[in-house]
Amino acid sequence: MRQEPSDSGASILLLLRAAYSSLRAAGQMIRDNHNRCGWFRAMAALLAITAAGPIFAQAPPAAPRFVVVLDAAHGGDDAGARLGSEAEKAYTLALSTRLRSLLMARGFGVVTTRESDATSEPDSRAQIANHANAQACISLHAAESGSGVHLFVSSLAPAQDEHFLPWKTAQAAWIMRSLSFAGVVNSALSHATVPVTLGRTALPAIDSMSCPAVAIEIAPERSADAKGPPSLDDPDYQARVADALAAALVEWRSQAREGSQQ
Ligand SMILES: [Zn+2]
Repeated sequence: MRQEPSDSGASILLLLRAAYSSLRAAGQMIRDNHNRCGWFRAMAALLAITAAGPIFAQAPPAAPRFVVVLDAAHGGDDAGARLGSEAEKAYTLALSTRLRSLLMARGFGVVTTRESDATSEPDSRAQIANHANAQACISLHAAESGSGVHLFVSSLAPAQDEHFLPWKTAQAAWIMRSLSFAGVVNSALSHATVPVTLGRTALPAIDSMSCPAVAIEIAPERSADAKGPPSLDDPDYQARVADALAAALVEWRSQAREGSQQ
């Protein structure tokens, strides 16, 4: 009994025919153009691609990016403190933008809670951070009073049970890691000779965040050896603070990577 060719058999036949006519056409081109060199080069390239295929397929997936959330505090209707002629909301946004480019140049994934003078509630800031699955968050504030950088961690008590935390106290499960992160930020700022004051306080946005998080409040540098009157606008001071924060995040990332290898 004669069997009808199956569908897949027919497809293979069609493919073979198509390949045969392509080869014939290519052969004709060679004869026409006497371009044997080009033909061999094309075949060599094709073989190289075929050989390289499995190598690409077996390459390990790229390491997930280390994501940092920058939260420029205040914005829109909430101007924050008055800093000379400027509002705190503008200062924090400028610092967030500056820090973002420093971090992106160092290979971080950066998510910001606002990019413009927009009103943003603490809950939506926390939502952005939690959705980003961030490995660190820095909430940025500024003040005229005090000296140097005031560094805060949430005042929530560390949670016993990490699994069933109400939204408003999600940070409780992260307090210990936030304290470690604050330690890294503290040493980077101290290394840059920026005075640091550490504190714990209720932080409405951070209290709902499920990631290591700190708030910093930048005050003018009032040190004995500072040149000129203390000012938040001092470009050298601004650069030192931004560079130190970037260095802290580089250190935090390398500690996290060392930890994950153990
Ligand atoms: Zn503020």
